[in-house]
Amino acid sequence: MPELPEVETTCRGIAPHIEGKTVTAVIVRQKQLRWPISPEISTVLPGLRINKVTRRAKYLLISTDKGTLIIHLGMSGSLRVIDADITPEKHEHIDIIFNNNTCLRYKDPRRFGCLLWTPTPINEHKLIRLLGPEPLSDAFDIDDFYPKAKAKKRPIKSLIMDGHIVVGVGNIYASEALFKAGIHPQRAANNISRARLERLVLAIKEILALAIEQGGTTLKDFVNSEGQPGYFQQTLNVYGRAKQACTVCESPIKQLVIAQRSTFYCPHCQH
Ligand SMILES: [Zn+2]
Repeated sequence: MPELPEVETTCRGIAPHIEGKTVTAVIVRQKQLRWPISPEISTVLPGLRINKVTRRAKYLLISTDKGTLIIHLGMSGSLRVIDADITPEKHEHIDIIFNNNTCLRYKDPRRFGCLLWTPTPINEHKLIRLLGPEPLSDAFDIDDFYPKAKAKKRPIKSLIMDGHIVVGVGNIYASEALFKAGIHPQRAANNISRARLERLVLAIKEILALAIEQGGTTLKDFVNSEGQPGYFQQTLNVYGRAKQACTVCESPIKQLVIAQRSTFYCPHCQH
């Protein structure tokens, strides 16, 4: 599943190729994704210039003078900028064609993604309005996080995966950040010291930043008609490693389920 680092890499991969271009046509081969594709994408978008491509949480925001196209990659979505004449393959549902005859082509085998149009300021959109701070921004720091953690008895792992608290910390990154910070994933959020929570904030930032840095090597794939932009695998210390030796202390990694999500931790290093 594309996580925040993949979405950030997609943003950086497509932005230089579509910013400043004008949309000439939109082809929708399959309009039923997680939600039906907004009809404005076919009726309003053609003729408009792409001003900017940005990311908020796992949403790509493609802004124009008349509104914003919101794209979520769902479970299996990907985007590439390719020659519009290249014959679409299976699962390549949408082309947004530009004045230089390239197109932004959306592929999504499982169709859990979405393409929505909003004419109103993007920060007022219902999907965006209530989101917590970006994990890599200065808005997410211990002063922001500490009072939120102190107010909750829930397991720390489910707290950091809550998009109202901080966005974009997926299941893998939550397990890895808690390992790095030495915090047991089931520990009640309000029962962790400020110093340890600060280590967690820094661990989240470091792990996501490293993943984005690794994704930088795939930027060329966004304009490559053969390959697909890959999802990059970073070295994992705990996630998916049940019963294997901890990379620090060699204790067997344990697995448990918190809020229906598989969680991995070292019973010796995390408490
Ligand atoms: Zn350990």
